Amino acid sequence: MQYEPQPPKDFKVTDVTRQKMSLAKKGKFGCETNPWKGESAGYSAVHRWLVKRYGSPKKCEHCGRENGRISWANKNHQYKRNIEEYIGLCMSCHKKYDNKLFRKLHNKKCIVCGKIVKTLDRNRKYCSIKCTGLYWYKVNKLKKYGTV
Ligand SMILES: [Zn+2]
Ligand SMILES: [Zn+2]
Repeated sequence: MQYEPQPPKDFKVTDVTRQKMSLAKKGKFGCETNPWKGESAGYSAVHRWLVKRYGSPKKCEHCGRENGRISWANKNHQYKRNIEEYIGLCMSCHKKYDNKLFRKLHNKKCIVCGKIVKTLDRNRKYCSIKCTGLYWYKVNKLKKYGTV
């Protein structure tokens, strides 16, 4: 997943050098102002910045554990330098989070078998394809024969 940002067509090395020099003079030059910093380089830089500024998170905000390795996770994968956009997560929660399993999950009760399912879809009514099929089978039968 290497993303190499490309400079625009009319890019001249001298422009950037000049820009860097003037920024360096003002004491503003840092990774924030590097115009060609891509997203792949973004996470580790931002992560270092977070730890330096706020320390490591003390508690996993998902499962509540306070020991073990807990790291910052970005809420929207935009890696902005804003603490509001990060939460502390333990390694196992972080893994789930990165797998996109850990987002807003809704507990939904299957209207057929009553099983509780965790789903991202708040309008979900069934736990499985089987129950979906069973439901419509029953509805059709009810329509046809007036009984299940
Ligand atoms: Zn956790
Ligand atoms: Zn079901």
